[in-house]
Parts: sequence; C-alpha cells; structure tokens
Amino acid sequence: MAQISLQNGIIYGPVFSRRLGRSLGVNLLPTSYKACSFDCIYCQYGQTIDLCLSPEIEELPTISQLISAVERALTKPRALDFITFSGNGEPSIHPKFPAIVRRVKEIASRLRPNAKLALLSNSSRVMVPEILSAICLFDAPMMKLDAGDEDTFLAINQTVGNICFEDIIDGLKEIPNLIIQSILIDGAVSNVRGAAFNSWVDILREINPQEVHIYSSERPTAHEDVVCVSPAKLMKIEEELNNRFQLNVRVFWSENF
Ligand code: SF4
Repeated sequence: MAQISLQNGIIYGPVFSRRLGRSLGVNLLPTSYKACSFDCIYCQYGQTIDLCLSPEIEELPTISQLISAVERALTKPRALDFITFSGNGEPSIHPKFPAIVRRVKEIASRLRPNAKLALLSNSSRVMVPEILSAICLFDAPMMKLDAGDEDTFLAINQTVGNICFEDIIDGLKEIPNLIIQSILIDGAVSNVRGAAFNSWVDILREINPQEVHIYSSERPTAHEDVVCVSPAKLMKIEEELNNRFQLNVRVFWSENF
C-alpha cells in the first residue's frame, strides 16, 4: 500500500470528517515534500526528509499567496463548518505563522462568520510566545501529545533537536479550549502499556484539556514495526479514562478521523 499523498496546493477540500464536519484545509507548507519538526514513527507521509523548525522560505507560500487563496476559497458558495490549518507537515513552523493566523481569522470573520478555525499541530512550537498567542486564537486547537515522559516522546515523535518536552507541557497548559490529540501505538515502542501509558494518563490529568481525541496509526506507517491499537482497545481506554478520571476522551479511527 502506498503512503498517503501530500496536498498539492494551499487549499484542499472541503473534506468531511466526524471531528470537524465540512472542513476546508489550509496548507502552509511545501507541496512537494513534508516539512516537519517531528519524524513520528507512525507518520503516514513517510519519513521526514526536511526535519526542521524553519523550512526554506523559497519553498513556502507567501502571506499574500495564502491570503488570496483563502479569500478565493471562502467566496465560493458552499457550506463550511471549519477552516483548518493542517497540510504537509507542521503548520506552526511557517515563519509567518502568527501573521497568517491573524489575517485568516480576520477574513474568515468577514466572509464566513459561522465557520470556526481549527489547527492540527504537533505542539512543537508552543513554547514560543508569539506562536502560543496565535494558537490561542483558534476555536479548536488540536494539539498532539503522544507521550507523558521524555523518553517515550523522543522514541515516538523523533523530534528535531532543541525541543524540550517540559516546555511543550507548560505551553499546552496555557491554551484555552485545548483539544489534545494522541495517537496510540503498540509494538517495539508503545504508549498503551506500562509506565509509558501511565505517564501519558498522568500528564493528561495535569493538563486537563477540554477534550482528548485518541486514535491509532493506520498502515502504512513510516516505520514497519509500528503496531496499530484496535478500536476495541481504544474504546476501553476511553471508558477507563472518562470514568476513573473524568477526562473527556473520544475515540476516532479510520476515515472518520
Ligand atoms: S507531526 Fe504529523 S506530519 Fe509531522 S511527522 Fe508526526 S505525524 Fe507526520
């Protein structure tokens, strides 16, 4: 099975998902490769070639290209529930991310006052004050957290250097309406068993997000030995965390993600 394809432009969709309804995607990243600050072992885009915190500016869309593409897309007559920053890697590593978020929010409130703004982010830049402020502008900031301890974090997310796990946790605590998204995996590296699972639960309780979305990897993953967690097991985790700790966990899997 081939890895999933990259988005080939700035705007994609609208796509329908159980989480976001009709969502228009905005890709701030290159169209010919994935640019990300993580190299997650389960990534469906394959291994990260450009593992960085600041991609080559020539490869990225400019603010004016982004704004005109968003404006064009929002004037088309079609129903939209969300405008979602996602795409070919990590949106917040675009060097103009804070300015782009502000401009898109302004355009959206003018052209689509009923659509909400969502972000799918790996959380790697939440410790940078101006990026954190921009993240706080999203109605639905969906922030990745696959681990509750540094060793598991590094083993699963294989980050670019200089990203401190503690700083991520501190940043996440500052985000209103926070939605944590966690991919649960098994195999040689696991976050659903033993100390790794317990520390992930502990850190969720400490952060106390508005919601926690859990799902598992889908084939093909960047690393062959990643083992998916079954929907039945995910639902058991959901039930346990909601009943024992009053966390608001929801399971997603398959194309409904
Ligand atoms: S953060 Fe997302 S895009 Fe980046 S490597 Fe991980 S799964 Fe892939």
